[in-house]
Amino acid sequence: MLITNAKLITWTVPNQILEGQALLISDQKINEIGPSAELIARYPDEQQLDAGGQYVMPGNIDAHGHYYSAFAVGMSIPGEAPITLPTILEKLWWPFDKALREEEIRYSALIGAIDAIKHGTTTLFDHHSSPNCIQGVLDVIADVIDSAGIRSVLCFEVTDRDGPERGQAGIAENARFISRCSQEQVADGRVAANFGIHAPMTVSEVTLAQCRAAVPEGTGFHLHVAEHEYDQVRSLAMAGTRSVDRLHKHGILGEKSILAHAIHLDAREVNLIAESYSWVSHQPRNNQNAADGIAEVESYLRAGVRVCLGNDGLSNTMWREAESAYFLQKIKHRDGRRLPGDQLLQMAVYNNAELASAYYPGGKLGVIEPGAYADLIFVDYKPATPLTVENLAGHFVFGFNESMITTTIVAGQLLMQDRVLLTMDEDEIKAKSRELAPALWERYEKLVPADHVLG
Ligand SMILES: [Zn+2]
Repeated sequence: MLITNAKLITWTVPNQILEGQALLISDQKINEIGPSAELIARYPDEQQLDAGGQYVMPGNIDAHGHYYSAFAVGMSIPGEAPITLPTILEKLWWPFDKALREEEIRYSALIGAIDAIKHGTTTLFDHHSSPNCIQGVLDVIADVIDSAGIRSVLCFEVTDRDGPERGQAGIAENARFISRCSQEQVADGRVAANFGIHAPMTVSEVTLAQCRAAVPEGTGFHLHVAEHEYDQVRSLAMAGTRSVDRLHKHGILGEKSILAHAIHLDAREVNLIAESYSWVSHQPRNNQNAADGIAEVESYLRAGVRVCLGNDGLSNTMWREAESAYFLQKIKHRDGRRLPGDQLLQMAVYNNAELASAYYPGGKLGVIEPGAYADLIFVDYKPATPLTVENLAGHFVFGFNESMITTTIVAGQLLMQDRVLLTMDEDEIKAKSRELAPALWERYEKLVPADHVLG
């Protein structure tokens, strides 16, 4: 396929904005880049896709999300509204994930994939939980990713909160799926795996050691860390050390490990994360919604931590998430100079691209260059002021909007063209979802505990 008549934003270092360009796509990758007329002349028989002068850039990447939360939209929580994370978990997410059955899990992933394709998010790091549907569940999600055409890194969150049997089943499911992904190209290589753990606060020292022992050295772990102070309180009570110290001790930090949130850390923990080249994923919209606090992402970046951007199961609109991150540091410090545009782009664009590339060693992601995977979006952005490499951050925050995304391509396959979904029937999937939701909500309500257990 030859994409013609494109204005490229390459997200290379240094970045480039190139007009009148064409991209030759073959075998899932960008093969060649050059002026449109030149490539059309050289490859006259290649099937053409005219970008019509739109901006063409790499698809967005979500460093931490949860497909399984799809059915929570519009659901009411019985009784008093939860105050902070411990009660949100206890009254919302833990009874909710217990109520999930295979069919709702499949539909959650379908809903997430539709949302991702429509909003130009092409790679998603998912963190799945369903204590009553564990064995084989990652295959169920992988099948959805396969048919939808997007790219996703999957894991199952291990926890002790549902008893030792389910804890062991969670470990086994991660190990099984990691092994599967190392032996075969799941979804033509678009599905990868890491090892999911809920959070230090719900796993014992023994369980952490078992997680580490269940998979080969170099495996990436994906878990929530210090989203709330309670994570530290529980770690200190269970192990006598803080959350990140525990992960360090058990060999869970590392070049492919993702620590979601990492809000309530001390200086030593920040250093441990930086020294181990672990990733921190920042989810500012959810941190506001759950009243979690605001991660010191600017300080983390200064300390050498590779901070990325996730959405924690909220809409797959990564520019909205980036906008939120940009504003949040300013209000936190009451200083409009905080988290300047270049740092925002480092976090939201470049670090996300590097994280995703670490999981797909066959080619780079999040960049337009020869040899990179052809994960691309067309953006019908008509800037009202000049758009240059120098002022791109300003357009990124105040100009770009997901409603402008018209076409989404992953691994060279068209998933949406001119706003028409090509791999999924949205009306049919959403109609069935609306049918499934009431029974799921009913099961959920019965599982909500009457009294608070957590402090
Ligand atoms: Zn999360």
